Amino acid sequence: MTVTDFSLPGLATRAIHAGQEPDATTGAVVPPIYQTSTFVQDGVNEFRTGGYEYSRGSNPTRSGFEEQLAAVECGTRAFAFASGMAAEDALLRAVLKPGDHIVLAADVYGGTFRLVDQVLSKWGVTHSFVPSASADDASATVRAGETKVLWLETPSNPLLRIADIAAWAQVADAAGALLVVDNTFASPALQNPLTLGAHAVVHSTTKYIGGHSDVLGGAVVVGNTEWNGQPLSELIGFQQFAGGAVAGPFDSFLAARGLKTLPLRMERHCSNALEIARWLRSREDVVEVFYPGLEEHPGHDLATLTLNGGYGGIISFRPRGGEAAAHTFVKSTRLYNLSVSLGGVESLTCVPHNMTHGSRVGTPHEVPKDLVRLSVGIEDLQDHLADLDQALAAAQREG
Ligand SMILES: *Cc1c(COP(=O)(O)O)cnc(C)c1O
Repeated sequence: MTVTDFSLPGLATRAIHAGQEPDATTGAVVPPIYQTSTFVQDGVNEFRTGGYEYSRGSNPTRSGFEEQLAAVECGTRAFAFASGMAAEDALLRAVLKPGDHIVLAADVYGGTFRLVDQVLSKWGVTHSFVPSASADDASATVRAGETKVLWLETPSNPLLRIADIAAWAQVADAAGALLVVDNTFASPALQNPLTLGAHAVVHSTTKYIGGHSDVLGGAVVVGNTEWNGQPLSELIGFQQFAGGAVAGPFDSFLAARGLKTLPLRMERHCSNALEIARWLRSREDVVEVFYPGLEEHPGHDLATLTLNGGYGGIISFRPRGGEAAAHTFVKSTRLYNLSVSLGGVESLTCVPHNMTHGSRVGTPHEVPKDLVRLSVGIEDLQDHLADLDQALAAAQREG
């Protein structure tokens, strides 16, 4: 299936069929898991169908998943890694060299910040933060000739800020830099940054793509961009092979299985989250709700334009009563488990200040102490509301 083809099948069809053809030999409807490290050669460098040699370079289960990923992200090539961070690390090392500069959107994932700030800095790569989600602010942060990557996450974590990907892509193009979008939160079901001008998309497939909280993984997806006179896809493919942080066959299988139901799951994540956000907003014991589906959210109109069919499954809010109420709330939920991570079928809650965003405490990018983040699962809406209701009551009672 060529995904640049305009006769492109619909998203759900691509998610189920791209790279997932029945096994040619046995007819198994689901392609087998090729749990092998190496492949027989019939003579020196005489490979069998597919040219497989050694599983760090390529493996049929991973290749199938990568084809499926490229198809759902409207890219030409995808690369699957052992984690989201491994994918980000490979991408950045494939395109940067000492002296280069990265512009990071305000709310980037804590692990991305850590990688850039504490690892890449040792190799002479510098960075700056954009104070908002605005493309004008991004443009003002670019250093002519030095900035090689702009890194954007939208909707952002945990404040759900919305950025204009197409405007950021123009800033990147004008600077001769690459725009990388971390599309983990929206997932390919709601947003395809490559179609809006981004040059590369990264995912933590651990989240919505895997979707069942049972596998860690990451991906880089690209289109036809060239970088330093070479196809970006070749640079990343080489780094994946040379660095070796690949997704294993079983992890690729689990993530591919999850991806098949992504569009369907995302519908329920979005409809549950919109109802819950409206319900939270209507309550006296909730001070503030962050969800792009609410009309008063500053990014609502942009989100309506750029997100397809929903506003995602993540909500943040501040209960009345401050930090103590937030901590009591997350201890009191029964359906929602207190846990880092997100994007699975089951609901999770966390206090970003102390948990996912602890590395920002004491920096200008610290998140509010009383902020609660919900990863809204796909359970029945009435059970969500009943659980949130009793936990909010506990938070007011006990503080
Ligand atoms: C979880 C996450 C990552 C990192 O992915 P891992 O699979 O945990 O390595 C990167 N970006 C975002 C937005 C994430 O939520």
